[in-house]
Formats: sequence, structure tokens, C-alpha cells
Amino acid sequence: MGEILEKTGCSDEETTAGSYFVSNYPPYSFWNREAAADAQAVLNRPPAIDSPLGVYIHIPFCRKRCHFCYFKVYTDKNADEVERYIDAAIQEIELYAAKPFIGGRKPSFVYFGGGTPSYISSKQLTRLAEGMKRALPWDQAQEVAFECEPGTITEGKLQAIKDLGITRISLGIENFDDEILKANGRAHLSREIDRCYDFARSIGFQQINIDLIAGMVGETPENWKECVRRTIAMSPESVTVYQMEVPYNTTMFKEMKVFGASVAPVATWKTKREWVAYAFSEMEKAGYTVGSAYTAVKDPAKTKFLYRDMLWAGADMIGLGVASFSHIQGTHFQNDTEFDSYCNAMSTGELPVYRALTPSNEERMIREFILQMKLGRVRRAYFQEKYGVDIHQRFADDLAVLQQQGHLTVTDEGLQYSRDGLLQVDSLLHRFFLPRHQAVGAK
Ligand code: SF4
Repeated sequence: MGEILEKTGCSDEETTAGSYFVSNYPPYSFWNREAAADAQAVLNRPPAIDSPLGVYIHIPFCRKRCHFCYFKVYTDKNADEVERYIDAAIQEIELYAAKPFIGGRKPSFVYFGGGTPSYISSKQLTRLAEGMKRALPWDQAQEVAFECEPGTITEGKLQAIKDLGITRISLGIENFDDEILKANGRAHLSREIDRCYDFARSIGFQQINIDLIAGMVGETPENWKECVRRTIAMSPESVTVYQMEVPYNTTMFKEMKVFGASVAPVATWKTKREWVAYAFSEMEKAGYTVGSAYTAVKDPAKTKFLYRDMLWAGADMIGLGVASFSHIQGTHFQNDTEFDSYCNAMSTGELPVYRALTPSNEERMIREFILQMKLGRVRRAYFQEKYGVDIHQRFADDLAVLQQQGHLTVTDEGLQYSRDGLLQVDSLLHRFFLPRHQAVGAK
């Protein structure tokens, strides 16, 4: 998943509690229940002609809750409850498919996120995917991505996943060391990593992605180097590397509170940046290209992250499932955040919108501007053509400061982040928020 956070604080020094990663704008605390009617209204309007459509499905089940996890997940649901949830998700996509905003469009991208999509059985996955395809066929999708936890995988299940039409499988490896995996509450162990990767290779997925986290509890420079070495040796098509953060609603934060600790037991922000810089530089030596603050790809011509790129350029996306986020024709909304009420709403035929926001044109422009900065480059012409805004003029003062600090270079064509700037990009984005959004923490 990875869609829920706003920064509240990050420095060169300790990792204190709070969210670093900026996933959307305006901040979620400005979304509200009153605007839910806006969401229902946009669904009844025909689509803007050039707007691609995507589908995200949230599978909120995991074997264990990782200590750093801030997502909506359940570790206690039985098979009947999983079946009930699948029924609800299928009903939800059927409701969407009947609305005028679809306008005959088929999904350009589909994303299975969580939680752990690979937690549920092959039979359940197949039933879910078939229901989704009946409502909105994927035959024109350029990308169908699926998140996997290595310990939930068998060769049979991986084949069933591939048979859904998955183009990218993302393996949540995070670290290769058993003690570190255990200390962070991960459910899988290192022996499951190679087994899962070998299955995925032999089955022939188009794109295998490996997820790593720099700065987990117990991480050391030697072990991080070994994680990077092993990742490169596996030769995945792409790698994503996130820097460990400790949002307020995590198990780790709750433990910190019990012990009165304000600083999380993980590396400083400076160290985490150095570790990601090391990882990226080793990957570049091995022929990878750094494509954003968090990704390196082996072949940029072949390996894309369309879900990310289309969303960051304002595509429509239906978010299915409990607490999922959608964006339709300029209105953002989130589903009901409780399992039972989400499932109950679906059985009454109501779309379970919990809160929403329709940003102004200026807010939409800022949203795309800051999200595209995470790619390390922003095209000036894009904003001129789409919004009639010259970003060099509109953000002149802030860009001059960031340029002077060495975080980016301003050219006629646009902006280019330095590696140092890119590795702390999330902490540099708040200055571009409108003043009323700048001092807001995560909720
Ligand atoms: S695998 Fe861990 S981090 Fe991922 S959603 Fe489940 S509990 Fe959260």
C-alpha cells in the first residue's frame, strides 16, 4: 500500500516519532465527511477524455503486524471473514462499473496492495480477480502489480498469481538477516527469500521488484552492505528502498511511549540517507538507473512504475477495500476504515465513502508538482501546458533556496534534483504547500 503519510519531522539526527513520507496533498487532515457527497457526485459525471483509469485493491490481511507498520491490517481474520471481504470488494467494483464516470474506460493499471495480497489462498485470489475482471476487464492494462510477503508463497500460489495477469511482483524482503527481521516483527525469515525469488524467476514474471528498508532496528553498516550485495546478486528488474520511519500509530511508537522514549531505536536520518546513497551507487555500478527517491531499475526502457507515474500525473483511480483511497476527476476520497462497516455498507449497495476532498486547481497543481519532485526531475513545460503556470516564477524563492543549498538545479527545461536532495526529498516538499497546510501533522 504505502499511501497514508505526511511528514511531521525529520532532521539530520535522531529518528523521532512521526511520518516522513509525503504521499498526497492537501494533507489528509483537510479531508472531511461533509465532502463525501462530492465523491458520490463525480461518479455520476462522464470522464475527462484523456484521463487514464486505474484500480487499487487493498488486501488488509497479514500473518503478523510488523513493528513499524502503519497500514490498515488485520492478523486475526478467519477464512469466512476473508471470503466476506472478497464478496464486498467484488460488490464494490460492480457498483463503480455501473457509474457514468467509467465512460467505457478499461483500467490502464491494476495494483494489489496491502496488507499482504499473497496471504490469501490461490482460490480466493482467483475468485477476487475474476470478479474484478467481470466488472472492469483488464485486457488493456499496461501494468498489473502484486505485493508478496516471501513466507506466504508456494510455487503453486505464485503460478496462480502469475495466471491473474500480473506483470510486476513486488517481494517485501526488507532485509536478509533473520535477527533483524525478527527484531522488526517481520513474519518471514531469510530462507524463504531465496525460495520465493527462485520460484518467481522460474515462473517467468515480467518484472520482479525487491523492497528493502534502510535503517531497520538492529541494522549495521556491514549488514546493510550485505543486503545490497545480495539484492544485486539476485538481479531483480527493479529495487525499491525506503528509509525507516516510525509513525505514531505503530507498535514501535507505542513501545517508545511506554518507556518514555522520544527517539526510535533506529539509525539517524543522516545514516539512513548514506545507506540509501550506498545502495543506489552500488546498483548504478551494476547497471541500474535511479528513477526516483526510492527506486532503481535495470532497464528504464522496459521497466516502468505506471501506477506511480499515472497517479502522480492526476489519473483516476478506484480504491477498493477497507480504508482505500480513490481519486476520481479531481476529487480524492477514502473508504470506510472499519472492516465490519465497510463490508456491511457493500451489502446494502452503498459505496462506503468515509471522507473526501476536492482540491482547488492551485492545490492540484501543487500536488502534482511535489509528487513529481520525488522522481528527481520536474518538467517546466508540463505545468505550463496543463495549468498555465510557470513553476520557475511561481516557486522562485523556494527554488532559489534549494538550489543554493545544493538540493537541485534549475534549468530552462525544469528542475533536476541532486542525489543528496533526492534522498531527502520528502523533507523538502512542505515549503511548497500553501501556508494553511504547512503546519499540519499526520492524522
Ligand atoms: S507485511 Fe508488515 S508492513 Fe506490510 S502491511 Fe503487513 S504488517 Fe504492515
